[in-house]
Amino acid sequence: MQITGAVLEQIGAARPYADTHPLTISRLDLAEPGPEDVLVRIRAAGLCHSDLSVVDGNRPRPTPMLLGHEASGIVERVGEQVTDLVPGQQVSTVFLPRCGQCANCATDGKLPCTRGTAVNNAGTLVGDRILLRRDGAEVRHHLGVSGFAPHAVLHRSSVVPVGADVPADIAAVLGCAVLTGGGAVINAGRPADGDDVMVVGLGGVGMAALITALSLKKRARAGRDDGGDGGGGDGGADGHVGKVIGVDANPAKLSRAIELGADAAHTPAEVAEQGVRAAVVIEAAGHPQAFETAVAATGVGGTTVTVGLPAPDARSEITPLVLTAEARTIIGSYLGSAVPARDIQVYERLWREGALPVGELISGHIRLEEINDALDTLADGQAVRQVIMFDEPAEG
Ligand SMILES: [Zn+2]
Ligand SMILES: [Zn+2]
Repeated sequence: MQITGAVLEQIGAARPYADTHPLTISRLDLAEPGPEDVLVRIRAAGLCHSDLSVVDGNRPRPTPMLLGHEASGIVERVGEQVTDLVPGQQVSTVFLPRCGQCANCATDGKLPCTRGTAVNNAGTLVGDRILLRRDGAEVRHHLGVSGFAPHAVLHRSSVVPVGADVPADIAAVLGCAVLTGGGAVINAGRPADGDDVMVVGLGGVGMAALITALSLKKRARAGRDDGGDGGGGDGGADGHVGKVIGVDANPAKLSRAIELGADAAHTPAEVAEQGVRAAVVIEAAGHPQAFETAVAATGVGGTTVTVGLPAPDARSEITPLVLTAEARTIIGSYLGSAVPARDIQVYERLWREGALPVGELISGHIRLEEINDALDTLADGQAVRQVIMFDEPAEG
């Protein structure tokens, strides 16, 4: 079929992107789904910092590439070997295909799937396939999704079903921002009873980590009020979180964190001056200074979780002595150390219960044609999540 999508022509374009147009809106040919694939009509796609990192060259990928890795849509067709999805079902996309058979997959989300990582680096779908062509020339897939277009063919392992009642924009951000930020807290940070949680960098992923920590706190409180056990504790931490603290250089994001229920919000300078520390500190800015702030703010016996994606040549200075003397841990987490099919269900349920206000992550809705301007807004640190909405087909 023919689709119209946002293709990155080459990496490293100068700013402002509104003038240089690193993404061109192009007509492309999308090949038929294979036996293990699904054809999805995309309804919404979030513009994530990882898209920007491909545009600016911090995450080099082969080009031309049809970008977009955080999307949701309706299954239109399934390959003959896909037996657990049917046309009409809503799905969220997941940006790391998961074979379920390699040694890394056996670590339950701690390590990224080896085969998924290889095809993502090559800009192909599982099975080393390229289904996108423009004027006969190959266009690469972005992280197995390529969601900046009204249709996509994805491998079965790149989608997770979500309920029909979940709005399209919410379903989109479940697959990247929420899975990554929420998992950084629940699967990687695993706050113990009473632990304070700090999040450094309040973009989409950081804000998702913040509302997840707040949801653990709320559930713990609700559990205590009912004399219950805190509401479950799916996925790891059982959630008697202490204070939740947001950190960002942008004052508007600090106000937002407080509105969402954070106990405190600080600039990185305030964190250093006031010696603010927390037991679990999530670094979600992808910047070496943010990592240093996060490490310095981690308390004795605490854990620093880094989920940001800094440039490959970025370097940070830390004091190794504190790791020993204060018995501290630094860990990295990719895709929230998640098992998507398990974890998205948990976030979906928390959203439905009103405990996880995912809609608060969405700072604007845009049209596909506005994507270059939206990249500037994102690069300026002004956006949490801008979501591209695609037109619904007319009733036939
Ligand atoms: Zn993303
Ligand atoms: Zn695997």
